[in-house]
Amino acid sequence: MIVPTLNELVPSYIKGFDAYIPSKPDPELKKLFGCTRLYRLNNNENPLGPPPAAQEVLCRFHPPLAAVYPSGDSYYLREKLAEMHGLHPEQILVGNGANEVITFVIKAFCEAGDNIITADKTFAVYEWVAIFSGYEARLVPLKDLVFDDEGMLERIDGRTKIIFICNPNNPTGTYWNREKLCRFLDSIDGKQIVVVDEAYFEFVEKEDFPDGISLLDRYPNLVVFRTFSKMYGLAGLRIGYLAGNKDVVEIIRRACVVYSVNTLAQEAALRALDDREDHIRRTRNLLREEKDYLRRHLTALKLPFVINEGNFVMVKLPMSDTLAYRKLMGRGVMVRTMTGFRFPNYIRITIARHEAMEALVDGLKTIL
Ligand code: PMP
Repeated sequence: MIVPTLNELVPSYIKGFDAYIPSKPDPELKKLFGCTRLYRLNNNENPLGPPPAAQEVLCRFHPPLAAVYPSGDSYYLREKLAEMHGLHPEQILVGNGANEVITFVIKAFCEAGDNIITADKTFAVYEWVAIFSGYEARLVPLKDLVFDDEGMLERIDGRTKIIFICNPNNPTGTYWNREKLCRFLDSIDGKQIVVVDEAYFEFVEKEDFPDGISLLDRYPNLVVFRTFSKMYGLAGLRIGYLAGNKDVVEIIRRACVVYSVNTLAQEAALRALDDREDHIRRTRNLLREEKDYLRRHLTALKLPFVINEGNFVMVKLPMSDTLAYRKLMGRGVMVRTMTGFRFPNYIRITIARHEAMEALVDGLKTIL
């Protein structure tokens, strides 16, 4: 029997793709960089953690329940989300983080020769999943840091299946207002699936910021992503969802892996929704104050910055971002380097509690 070499088994699009390397756990990083405490400002997490009611569910979890499979389709959570958004539970699909629902949508709609369209400087997982699944990712440059609607419409062809819009955009924090989003959806006229990723929806306080879910009635081809990782502070439990019209969600459900969302995540998410109002208010207050603080200090340091919507900001440094990363790590501050995200020598910083922001500003002052 001839055994093929590993190389022969690997599709060409996998051969040319580099695996993403996640950061090491805190204890390893502290050893590596010789720091005693570490502020993680690299992943846009909520420094306040989950809402108190969700924290209580976590403390009270009955351990023997770990032996029992979770609800395979997050039954009660879908009911709750449906009620909250005025949808039918069948219009919602819950996944192991919004990351997983990205893969569901791409698997459900793309086949060999198809393409997806998104921006060049946005959340990279849309692009990565398309590429390592063998599909073309057409990346349209941002225009003045904003998704370029005209540019994206020009790149559509007969093989374009999905258009991904990150609203507000990670990492620029810019957004399309309701009018611009509707105009774009009108131009698409149902011919492609349009995904609007609203991972940072709950942070935005702007009057003209659109709630994509409220547009589902008008646009049958629209799919909206939300997550419990950001505002709801449940990133470690991995839970997010998509909402769409019944026919579309029914197709996506065929490409979804059931039982990928654990019991604890489902219960914590349910309670997080019940207890969201005060939590959202406290988080927004913190963001407003700390963004102001950063604006003042970055201006004083003469560092160009991008501060818009969302719980993150970008700063341009007069040195390599990887060098800055290492130096800041030595001071117990972990940021995200952005050269790999096509913003050379920028870093992205998650807005966190004041002491973390002070540590960051002190760190920047020293390394400059
Ligand atoms: N979309 C965007 C825009 C994000 O920034 C992130 C996480 N950084 C995700 C989706 C994925 O979120 P989750 O933790 O739910 O997988």
